[in-house]
Amino acid sequence: MDAQLYINGTWLEAPENFDVLNPANGEKVGSAANGGRTETNQAIKAAHEAFPKWAAKTAEERAGYLKKLQQLMLEHKDELGELVTKEMGKPLAEAKGEVMYAASFLEWYAEEARRVYGDLIPSNSKDKRFMVMKQPVGVVGAITPWNFPLAMVTRKIAPALAAGCTAVLKPAEDTPLSAIRFAELCAEAEVPNGVINIVTGEAAEIGGAFMEHEAVKKVTFTGSTEVGKLLMKQASEHVKKLSLELGGHAPIIVLDDADIEQAVDGAIASKFRNAGQTCVCGNRIYVQERIYEDFVEKFTERASQLKVGDGLEGDADLGPLINKDGFEKVDRHVQDALKQGAALKTGGSGFEQDGGYFYEPTVLADINHDMVIMEEETFGPVAPIQKVKTDEEAIELANDSRYGLAAYFFTDNLKRGMKVAEALEFGIVGWNDGRPSAAQAPFGGMKESGLDREGGHEGIEAFLETKYVSVGL
Ligand code: ADP
Repeated sequence: MDAQLYINGTWLEAPENFDVLNPANGEKVGSAANGGRTETNQAIKAAHEAFPKWAAKTAEERAGYLKKLQQLMLEHKDELGELVTKEMGKPLAEAKGEVMYAASFLEWYAEEARRVYGDLIPSNSKDKRFMVMKQPVGVVGAITPWNFPLAMVTRKIAPALAAGCTAVLKPAEDTPLSAIRFAELCAEAEVPNGVINIVTGEAAEIGGAFMEHEAVKKVTFTGSTEVGKLLMKQASEHVKKLSLELGGHAPIIVLDDADIEQAVDGAIASKFRNAGQTCVCGNRIYVQERIYEDFVEKFTERASQLKVGDGLEGDADLGPLINKDGFEKVDRHVQDALKQGAALKTGGSGFEQDGGYFYEPTVLADINHDMVIMEEETFGPVAPIQKVKTDEEAIELANDSRYGLAAYFFTDNLKRGMKVAEALEFGIVGWNDGRPSAAQAPFGGMKESGLDREGGHEGIEAFLETKYVSVGL
């Protein structure tokens, strides 16, 4: 697949291209255009010109395009799933699941487009009427990460388009092809020219153009906390609106009255999905002492059954890590924990095969809070388990982080559960649930995990301005 830039409904060449490699075997999957500032400014101009007409369409009309796109995505589920696996590495079944998840945002926001309500407020004077209207913010710059090459695109683009905004999308350099394929589907759905534009290439140049151009009214970003902070600094120049979905360091708390099977199942799902490479993956597990041994044994047994390999080859549960840097970080966390006395229950090492970097599902017990793995986001298939005495200790340790994206806990006791849910300083909490993400629900973090929410009705709010109109009679 050789991709170009998609600007104003036209496919354009950039001066150079770059190769996109399959992380499972280093083979070339395709190439993408290496766009920069000039191309981004061209795309912003197209989005800016397309904006008034798109915003003036009825909500039904915009919803119609999104529904058509959803339909096309479902029709191409197998092919898109294969592309996601090839450029990102996750197993094919998981990749097809991502396609369904991506399509669900198109459906949800096609529906939400029709529910952008304003307000009529009783005024403080007989001669005045107060009304509040919601209007699209304008041109949106969207920056997406590699771990969900398709779902992070629709999670941003669907609500933006539903709200009446037009957009320029910059997908991650490791995984631009799924986004490019999405642009092809937009063309097939006859989304008007300029409403969605895609620029692949130089991250800092493209991001810089978003921030400097006055026509871009909002930047929505999913990626590292480090880049998120940089964008916040850059945004201050024009007081640009920002939505940020940044890093996480999710705790999983298992209290001693939990349904152990359910807790093991939820923790496995949360920890090993996408080989541990999601910002909501469980990164540290706290288990109450009475059930600690039992949990460690059952969890280890399940983890050790997971198969690692090329995601296209049938029975792999975990694909490769995205690259060598990712692999080295995971191994550094494991080695640090082992050096400090952690007990290795399964896994503990990785291997390189045909240019792909794979890491075994790893369980470490007898963990303490001073180990690096309990402080940094691992982004890999490693589960460190620490024993805790009380609910309060578990909550305190869980909250002792600069991140506040997702947290999970397991208990069958309603009173305990409500207290834990309320005390956790995280934007997403899975109570007896290792897979809480859904298009219908708000997704986002507290603390250094970000600003704003995606998904749910909150997700479209992020692309709307609130205008108050006071009418004198
Ligand atoms: P990760 O560690 O997951 O790769 P990054 O924050 O580096 O996270 O990448 C997430 C997205 O941000 C990618 O699309 C990447 O190209 C983009 N990005 C990286 N650096 C910058 C930057 N300086 N300005 C704008 N976007 C950037």
